[in-house]
Amino acid sequence: MERDMRAASAPPGESPAVAGPPPRVRVVGVSKTYPTPDGGSARVIENVDLTLAEGEFLAIVGPSGCGKSTLLRLISGLVPVSDGRIVVAGEEVIAPPPRVGFMFQRDTLLPWASVSANIAVALELNGTPAAERPARIAALLKLLGLERYADYRPSALSGGMRQRAALGRLLAYGPELYLMDEPFGALDAMTKMILGRELLRIWSQDAKSVVFVTHDIEEAVGLSDRVVVMEGPPGRIKSEYRIDLPRPRDFREVRLLPEFRDVCERIWRDIGRHAEAE
Ligand code: ADP
Ligand code: MG
Repeated sequence: MERDMRAASAPPGESPAVAGPPPRVRVVGVSKTYPTPDGGSARVIENVDLTLAEGEFLAIVGPSGCGKSTLLRLISGLVPVSDGRIVVAGEEVIAPPPRVGFMFQRDTLLPWASVSANIAVALELNGTPAAERPARIAALLKLLGLERYADYRPSALSGGMRQRAALGRLLAYGPELYLMDEPFGALDAMTKMILGRELLRIWSQDAKSVVFVTHDIEEAVGLSDRVVVMEGPPGRIKSEYRIDLPRPRDFREVRLLPEFRDVCERIWRDIGRHAEAE
């Protein structure tokens, strides 16, 4: 009961102080402990509080191993919390909640199925009637510039094309909450720029709630409304930055603004040792 009360009223500074829809995600006092090979245990996430507003684009940055992916997995319900609670769309997470979509650094496309068939699976999963699927697939392929690759299997595509297809499948599923774990992390700089730009363009048309994990500060600032900096292990939230850059934004051009450089610089300094190594 006490926990319920805590969850119902967001602590100050955690969520935008505006009246509106309830938050999409609420992480309250969450910790995660994993067993270690020597029979002991390791604290991987420690006492994390985080609120994601409806329609907010949140980026999580932090050094490798600080617990970003673990936090995302806890929100996804794929991994249970050790302490605390996570509420998605008003329901406590005990298993993967409905209408949540994932995207990872390496695509998880079905290798034996064509791009179209991979997208079709997502449409089937979300209950799109069979008669409507071909038009929806065609629209998504067009949106992502994949028309010519509809019948290709993932192994015949470049890394960038595969991530486009994975994004197409995610959009086809139509989640209310996007959980993205370094989805562009394995791509070259140019492809990353193009896909980041497309993601922002798509998001600006239909703003869904997004948690986007990355170790790329410029990517985080370019995309998001708020950047949370993690440190660890054990993973904790170190600080957060509201990104007041104009919307809609062009993922590349926004980098030319002095405010963009300024906030990136502040985050670099905050993360510390990386900036010093430059
Ligand atoms: P990040 O995504 O920030 O690089 P991770 O969340 O992947 O960090 O990992 C954070 C810490 O949790 C690491 O020390 C890692 O070894 C540990 N960890 C992650 N998953 C497991 C697991 N399934 N079992 C044990 N330890 C894990
Ligand atoms: Mg990770």
